[in-house]
Amino acid sequence: MDQALEHFQVRACLDGPLPDALVAHAPDARSYLEQVAGPRSTGGKLLPVRGNRIRLDGLVPGDCLEYAVSLPRSFHGGWRSGAHRVGDSLIVSPLLWLWYPYRGNAQQPFRLTLQIPEGMQLSVPWPRAKDAAESSSYRLGARPYEWQALVAFGPASQEAVTVNGATLRITLLAGAPAADQAALTDWIRQGAEALTMLYGRFPVPEAQVLVVPIGQGDEPVPWGQVTRGGGDAVHLFIDQRQPMTAFRRDWTLMHELSHLLHPMIDNHTPWLNEGLASYYQNVLRASSGVVSPEQAWEELDAGFQRGRQDSQPEQSLAEVGENMRSNRRFMRVYWSGAAIMLMADTELRARSGGRQSLASALQAFRECCLPSDRGWSALEFLRQLDRLTESDVFTGLYARYAYSSQFPDLRAIYSQLGLRREGTGLHFAGEGSAARLRAEIMQSATRPN
Ligand SMILES: [Zn+2]
Repeated sequence: MDQALEHFQVRACLDGPLPDALVAHAPDARSYLEQVAGPRSTGGKLLPVRGNRIRLDGLVPGDCLEYAVSLPRSFHGGWRSGAHRVGDSLIVSPLLWLWYPYRGNAQQPFRLTLQIPEGMQLSVPWPRAKDAAESSSYRLGARPYEWQALVAFGPASQEAVTVNGATLRITLLAGAPAADQAALTDWIRQGAEALTMLYGRFPVPEAQVLVVPIGQGDEPVPWGQVTRGGGDAVHLFIDQRQPMTAFRRDWTLMHELSHLLHPMIDNHTPWLNEGLASYYQNVLRASSGVVSPEQAWEELDAGFQRGRQDSQPEQSLAEVGENMRSNRRFMRVYWSGAAIMLMADTELRARSGGRQSLASALQAFRECCLPSDRGWSALEFLRQLDRLTESDVFTGLYARYAYSSQFPDLRAIYSQLGLRREGTGLHFAGEGSAARLRAEIMQSATRPN
């Protein structure tokens, strides 16, 4: 990678069972690719590129090919497009510049070594190649190549934070104004520790944490996301001008970290993963003392209200979720999902006399199935949770609500929990089993199984 972060010079060498093509997964990748020269033994004859495939016919083990990728000086799609420059840094999806080896339809594993300019740092989702002499050599191939990911190049501060055996590789890109690295690292560590308390472990053994100070927005984290390509990753686009008190109170970090509790779930059913994260963003802030349990209930309740208001009688949750990006009905999807998670949590506690909970189900899931290199359907994930809890709680809720056009009916749960809406406020009935259940839910994190 050159100093301007615009130009990759790539040398791809083949060994083992030969791939028959290098394939790019982003439509724009082809327009960034410059001519591909074949092995020196052929005099560097140009290799044919058809659409998103570089054909490797006639190459033998030991052959190397060379090509260049030129990225534009500026991208226009914004943070979510997978290509962005902030200050002197480049944040870009590998799908735009990396051409992946395939043999037929089977992706071939490979080692990637990156050389970056002096003074630059690198943030990647991939596991380091263990036997590699170079520190910037990575193993690719365990996860589907087409899964989204981000790589960042630029001046940055980096720290590997260990949370109960898991390693978070935190990269904070340089920004203007400069961000407070120590305070932000602490904030992330505390968030990770709050998640860890849910069942005593962090859900995955390692994660890329990329923090991009964009210096704009009117909240601490205007945009956050979790990606799974090449490894588990949390990306936080922050407004570093906001005070640290605002970061600590904000829910976004807790929401994104909570996504690590579930595997990659196909994007037809966003209510499931977004519901899980929206539920725990509140529960975990209460159990780690960032907000009071009452505040957490109020925020959940406010979310359910927004979800209810965003429900339209003729459209099912499945339908609305499937088209969420175009219909923008995020509230219906996220908070229906959170309501379903509250139902699962209370139902498991009730039927097991408190031995089980949503947290214990997710703990069992971690033990069987995380980290996961493959995608899961919603139903497959829920069936597994049923199997692990020896119940039908999860598929039961799926059957009741996934195709319902009504917002999940929380009246029975609210009465179990002693919660009552009065005007604009939420009223708590203070005694007995209701108060105990409320406390148990909001103290989830301090009572690991
Ligand atoms: Zn989310």
